Amino acid sequence: MTEQKLKSVETLPSPFKIVFIVAHHDDIEFGAAGSVACWVEQGADITYVVITDGGAGSNEPGVVRSELAETRKKEQLAAAAAVGVTDVRFLGYPDGTLEPTMELRRELTRIIREVKPDRVICQDPRTVFFRDNYINHPDHRAAGEAAIYATFPSSETRPIFPELLDEGLEPHKVKELYLTLSLNPTHFVDISSTIEQKANALRAHVTQLGQGEDFENGALKWITEWGRETGKTVGVDYAEVFKVMTLVQANDNVREKDLEKAGTND
Ligand SMILES: [Zn+2]
Repeated sequence: MTEQKLKSVETLPSPFKIVFIVAHHDDIEFGAAGSVACWVEQGADITYVVITDGGAGSNEPGVVRSELAETRKKEQLAAAAAVGVTDVRFLGYPDGTLEPTMELRRELTRIIREVKPDRVICQDPRTVFFRDNYINHPDHRAAGEAAIYATFPSSETRPIFPELLDEGLEPHKVKELYLTLSLNPTHFVDISSTIEQKANALRAHVTQLGQGEDFENGALKWITEWGRETGKTVGVDYAEVFKVMTLVQANDNVREKDLEKAGTND
């Protein structure tokens, strides 16, 4: 997958907050539910943000978009619960034609300033082709672009979106950005102990991945195999990978603590 040697993601300090932003219901489960389960176990508070309504998740003629959207919401809540996540936000943008608009960036900035996460996770907007067999969905790229620019500069910069200040939402600096579906991942999470929880999270997406034999011998099989192959490259049974950006360096942390002490930083 990559020529660079991947580093292991460190155990989280406590307390630790993560906001995970994706385009679709099920995007988190494919590549990161095992990691989410690990981080929940380590005490992290995790918020999921699903930008679209999931209404384009079927090619069957006659499917009513609004009904499918309702079902997918329930599936996503069940998938989140399977790994211990209860805070799930649905933004309801039309599925399939997402664009990284200023309106979307503002909504994501609002959530980041409200939740104040240490880490934001989103989809790598640079990925157009993945492996030799997948053209990355344009919704993923749009979601990723809106999310990275909500993280920086919008969330931490006071003059951007002044209307959020009127809502009482002060600037917030995110410490780390993690990207999924990246062509050049830098870190891995050993998910060997949470692979069953990941399977349960995936199992919740019945409308997308099927159920019973269809699911067990279809989606679950290739996703598990993908995790095993990734694990092999780093010497564990199963792994998930991320590109990690560190936005606050060690020195900044010291400075931040000083500012907190001085009561000048939120
Ligand atoms: Zn997707």
